[in-house]
Amino acid sequence: QIDIRNVQKFFGHLQVLKDLNLTIKDGEFVVMLGQSGGGKTTALRAIAGLETVSSGQILIDGVEVQDRKAADRDIAFVFQSFSLYPHMTVRENIAFPLRAVRMNAADRDKAVTEVASTLQISQHLDRKPSALSGGDMQRVAIGRALVRRPQALLMDEPLGVLDAKLREQMRAEIKRLHIARGSTSVYVTHDQIEAMSLADRIVILHDGVLQQVGAPDEVYLHPTNLFVATFVGSPV
Ligand code: ATP
Repeated sequence: QIDIRNVQKFFGHLQVLKDLNLTIKDGEFVVMLGQSGGGKTTALRAIAGLETVSSGQILIDGVEVQDRKAADRDIAFVFQSFSLYPHMTVRENIAFPLRAVRMNAADRDKAVTEVASTLQISQHLDRKPSALSGGDMQRVAIGRALVRRPQALLMDEPLGVLDAKLREQMRAEIKRLHIARGSTSVYVTHDQIEAMSLADRIVILHDGVLQQVGAPDEVYLHPTNLFVATFVGSPV
């Protein structure tokens, strides 16, 4: 479980998160939805330990993690830009997070081939990322994130650079993978349809303020304010 308690974040004088409170339960698929600049990425990075908070607490399984480095949070992160290592093969990219894990070569190889098989990229293992399509590159990035079997997978607009058809296909894959993993997913997007189709609960952030948290149909049918109603296109 991830608890965000009274979190504030300033960049200089700019307040990006304003008293954010949210609990993400184990196994839940939470989508943070909002316009650009609303604070979604900052919230996600704070959970991952890639960004500090100005005040408030983030707890993972009841333990405050402010002083715990990203690598020690049992949480993996997937970026929009894939961020694969171009000089490494797909196999080496996926295996990279295991370098610090005490594991023999056979187990390491097994972990990589398993994750590649789940993501249907086994045929690409000995290729360089530049030889892959955008969708396959993002599958590799997801594979790299999942190889350590993190308790939570955080994704920041992971389908942002893909074309519409591929986005739809990858969206279904991400949902399937979430169900198969049985662990938590937190997903940032400004795309309402993506949020509606993926989320168990949607978190709407605007100007650093949490506007509403709820199941997709609840947010859609019972928006708590005009911003949410307009943003998700609720019926009038
Ligand atoms: P986007 O979809 O564009 O990423 P977002 O909702 O994820 O939007 P954030 O990226 O969290 O929003 O940014 C919120 C605000 O914080 C923006 O005004 C942004 O310019 C500012 N910001 C983000 N990172 C920094 C930083 N490192 N230094 C200064 N300002 C920052």
